[in-house]
Amino acid sequence: MTLKPPPLSNDCFALPPGVNWTPVDDALRLLRDRLTRVVAPESVPLLAAPGRILAQDLPALRANPAEANTAVDGYGFAAAHTGGGDISLPLVQGRAAAGKPFAGTVPPGHAIRVLTGAALPEGVDSVVLDEDCATDAHHVAFRGPVKPGANTRRAGEDMNKGATALAQGRRITPSDLALAAATGHATLPVYSRLRVGVLSTGDEIVPAGTTAASGQIFDANRPMLLAMATRMGFDAIDLGHVPDDRATLRARLDAAAADVDVILTSGGASAGDEDHVSALLRETGALTEWRIALKPGRPLALGLWGGTPVFGLPGNPVAAFTCTLIFARPAMDLLAGAGWSEPTGFTVPAAFAKSKKPGRREYLRARIRDGRAKVFRSEGSGRISGLSWAEGLVELGDGPCEIAPGDPVRYIPFGSFGL
Ligand code: AMP
Ligand code: MG
Repeated sequence: MTLKPPPLSNDCFALPPGVNWTPVDDALRLLRDRLTRVVAPESVPLLAAPGRILAQDLPALRANPAEANTAVDGYGFAAAHTGGGDISLPLVQGRAAAGKPFAGTVPPGHAIRVLTGAALPEGVDSVVLDEDCATDAHHVAFRGPVKPGANTRRAGEDMNKGATALAQGRRITPSDLALAAATGHATLPVYSRLRVGVLSTGDEIVPAGTTAASGQIFDANRPMLLAMATRMGFDAIDLGHVPDDRATLRARLDAAAADVDVILTSGGASAGDEDHVSALLRETGALTEWRIALKPGRPLALGLWGGTPVFGLPGNPVAAFTCTLIFARPAMDLLAGAGWSEPTGFTVPAAFAKSKKPGRREYLRARIRDGRAKVFRSEGSGRISGLSWAEGLVELGDGPCEIAPGDPVRYIPFGSFGL
């Protein structure tokens, strides 16, 4: 259970030779093929488990329900000893209630008072609802025939003992806690949280809350990316900000690689003079610049720093956000033990018109109103207000398209990405 998986290979991000613009699906396939889990299993109490990833299949230690019981308040008896028409059965003294089983046996042709959730006493297989009964102190009368098993729950009808309650790789939800608890688990085997370091780069970047001089801008990416990692269930680690200085960046990456499982940087990922993330990764020989046929996006710099995968995201907040959802998130899910994840999208009518050329996939900031997908008024990738406005993405395929209002489009809510 405490086995640490082997490190990733140095060329895990290498592209096949000759590829120029990589289609989104090819890029995703490469990530999927080349990355593996890097986290180790541990055990946590139920309440610490939501959002964590299950490290093993979880067998039911107990059936649900564990015993046959009554689904209603009423009177229980053996159906085989009743017939059609009006039926009157003598009542056995005592009753069966939830948590307070009846110790004796109910003889054939007799009935007993039962309350919802009570284990069915010996001799009882069926129950008639209070509302369908007339009673005095000694008898219960109702109309037959009664279907055998009526108003009862079979032992194991929800889940048998030993069946797989939850599968390895699953991200634990609140309802999973109910199932785990009901089937006898107080702790769950999960993977340690993937530690996701977030680093901003750029001479112009200053933290929000400080004074920004002319030419400086507030760091918008770091709080966004940290919050995204947290919402996805990872352990988000703030690696701060570094100026466009190679030595400082190198030192920060060295320190981070020892502390985190994956690093998300933003800015400095292109091939310009001040693009030190890509330059540094290139120095170590472990850089791959993926020119992905995607809008919004720029080359995505991928590399390993001391064995730790680095996603060099574009500095532009809209592109950083989109690349994180489309590429970093499924990759991080793999590293985290959750397996590859594909976001669930929905086909909805467009509330907009758009004409798109072939050659790259596009993601538009969108939200659903009145059952139709609206897109943000501007596609400008510096428009952070559009990110805040959006509740999901509209995905336009790699080919050309002419979209008129009412045409079906694929909408992926942010919730589908774990946000
Ligand atoms: P770069 O990828 O470094 O060329 O940056 C592209 C654009 O994104 C530039 O306009 C940067 O100023 C901007 N940018 C880079 N990092 C951030 C950040 N952390 N927050 C907001 N904008 C950023
Ligand atoms: Mg820059």
